Amino acid sequence: MWGSEDSERSKYKPAAICKRGHVQTQDLTLGEVGERCPECGAHVLTECPACATRIRGHYDIPGVVSFGDHYEPPRFCDSCGAPFPWLDRQGRIYELENLLDAEELDAAAELAVREQLRALANADLDEDDERKRWERVKRLAPGLWEKSGARAILETVVSATIRAQLGLPPA
Ligand SMILES: [Zn+2]
Ligand SMILES: [Zn+2]
Repeated sequence: MWGSEDSERSKYKPAAICKRGHVQTQDLTLGEVGERCPECGAHVLTECPACATRIRGHYDIPGVVSFGDHYEPPRFCDSCGAPFPWLDRQGRIYELENLLDAEELDAAAELAVREQLRALANADLDEDDERKRWERVKRLAPGLWEKSGARAILETVVSATIRAQLGLPPA
């Protein structure tokens, strides 16, 4: 347990964070936390809702007992890539844009996809408009649609009513 051969992942302590993103503890091994956030009343998560992996907490440096002030709740599960509930729609769309960089699309296609994603950051699009825009993204960047990290995000931002048409599993 204290060996230096621990994987990178095991160097992180498990955190407990409420669904709105209020940090209850960066290191759950130090003690229990309540089921509800004292600040906002939301349910407290101690594992990824999608894959049940612990939430990445305090980074443990052997021999150093210090808790920096710089801990930020992770936006995505470091095991399955699913976004945590506290990440808003805009943050999810930003991450899709980041993942787009690796697709090496030609400049015109990439610009078109970015424009669609920016429009899709607005949750109030009507269903038909939303469907057309996602279809355009899928046609222009099919690789993005297949990538597991991107897919875990897509499954949370595409409306339930049009998921089947876009080849995503039901919510
Ligand atoms: Zn809270
Ligand atoms: Zn996960």
